[in-house]
Amino acid sequence: MSELLAALPPTLASSAVLPGSRAYGAAQHSYTYRGAPAAILYPGSADEVAQALTVATTYGERFSVRSGGHGISGRSTNDGGVVIDLTRLNGVEIEDAAAGTVRIGAGNRWGPVARALAPSGLAITSGDSGDVGVGGLATVGGIGLLARRDGLTIDRVTGAEIVVADGRVVWTDADHEPELFWGIRGAGPNLGVVTSLRFRAAHLRGVGHADLVYDWPSLEAGLPAWAEVVLASPREVNAFLYAVRGPRGVRAMVQALVATDDEQEIQTMLQPFVDVPGAVNAQARITTYDQVVPYGGHPHSGQAGGPVRSALLNEIDAGTGRDLDGVLAAGADMVQIRPVGGAVNDIAPDATAYAHRHQQFAVMASGRAPFDTAWAPVLARADGLYLNFDNSGDPALVELAYPGQTRTRLRALKAVWDPADLFRENFPIV
Ligand SMILES: Cc1cc2nc3c(=O)[nH]c(=O)nc-3n(C[C@H](O)[C@H](O)[C@H](O)COP(=O)(O)OP(=O)(O)OC[C@H]3O[C@@H](n4cnc5c(N)ncnc54)[C@H](O)[C@@H]3O)c2cc1C
Repeated sequence: MSELLAALPPTLASSAVLPGSRAYGAAQHSYTYRGAPAAILYPGSADEVAQALTVATTYGERFSVRSGGHGISGRSTNDGGVVIDLTRLNGVEIEDAAAGTVRIGAGNRWGPVARALAPSGLAITSGDSGDVGVGGLATVGGIGLLARRDGLTIDRVTGAEIVVADGRVVWTDADHEPELFWGIRGAGPNLGVVTSLRFRAAHLRGVGHADLVYDWPSLEAGLPAWAEVVLASPREVNAFLYAVRGPRGVRAMVQALVATDDEQEIQTMLQPFVDVPGAVNAQARITTYDQVVPYGGHPHSGQAGGPVRSALLNEIDAGTGRDLDGVLAAGADMVQIRPVGGAVNDIAPDATAYAHRHQQFAVMASGRAPFDTAWAPVLARADGLYLNFDNSGDPALVELAYPGQTRTRLRALKAVWDPADLFRENFPIV
């Protein structure tokens, strides 16, 4: 490791965080993994990312790329290797407010991004946590509360800067290296280090936001009616569901967003959710989009480790609910459901490396102890997988995430841009 430090240019060497230093404790871990890296590097430009990458791959045993550090896979830190932390690449530049064109550093997080865009009346669909990083989410998918209206986060990406395996800094969009641009929208972590992205943000100020609570005897009993309401709702509405074992069976907490500030419309669109049997509480308010992307900014300590499993589903019927009841009974702490229909499915399956363009729900379960046996029937229902919600590391899942022609194209891209397979930490494409 001393060789590595000696090889670093002075700016990277002076900001590197090493074991034993005062800053190390707050820098070594990710949200889901307690790491013990040999060095954490903080490049401040794409060129410095390239320098860090060259040094890390020449002298380090392994390296990780970290944007927000909220990766469920836990692969943005490691033991004994180098972490390339992009926190300093956090710019938010509104290039054209009228067109919604914005450029964002990959090291920023979605909460601060939402707050930076709000004064211009702009919003980018991301996810339910403002602590999640731009880089880890916008290179794989991004299922947010505006997904049914605006698509996935990757569907709003119009260009990106990426440092590829040989250290080149490459700009990619529909006209420049279009195949690479296809790949970084779904499989970015396999192709390089994305340093910044250009987005087409939506014009959105006020939104309706509701918290609902349902007490159901089981997911089998309660979930199908809720799922039906989601499917019948206009695209302006989206609702994420978080189910835990509850006092009377299952308690499902839902946050619903309506992309308008018209009180009457909000009421009309939310009423079907209130009418779902088992609703015990419902509270709605008019707010701004940035307020529904909560940001804590707490240091990471591996606080959220444990198995996370996921599947994309075409429907949720009583049988699906029964299987998910089995997952909770087997010890999973929570089942989460995010709708992925509407605008997500307006995109052709071969337009991005995220190929899943007809499914309706992303389901995910998390726990402290293994629940794979109970998860198997849910996985058997899966029609595709969103890798950002899974940490099993099972290579078989890569086929589910990148089916058929998508995988063939990704392999070809790897042969061009990463022939030595440097970027293999996070669900490698084989
Ligand atoms: C509390 C919580 C809530 C979530 N909610 C949602 C949600 O609503 N919708 C949703 O879609 N997802 C959600 N996620 C999943 C999220 O999309 C992934 O965990 C994502 O990887 C986090 O991004 P990050 O930058 O914070 O990750 P990091 O931990 O920094 O990185 C994770 C991995 O991504 C890759 N990576 C990171 N940055 C880059 C980069 N700049 N270039 C190339 N590869 C990179 C690396 O392989 C790295 O190992 C949630 C996760 C958590 C923990």
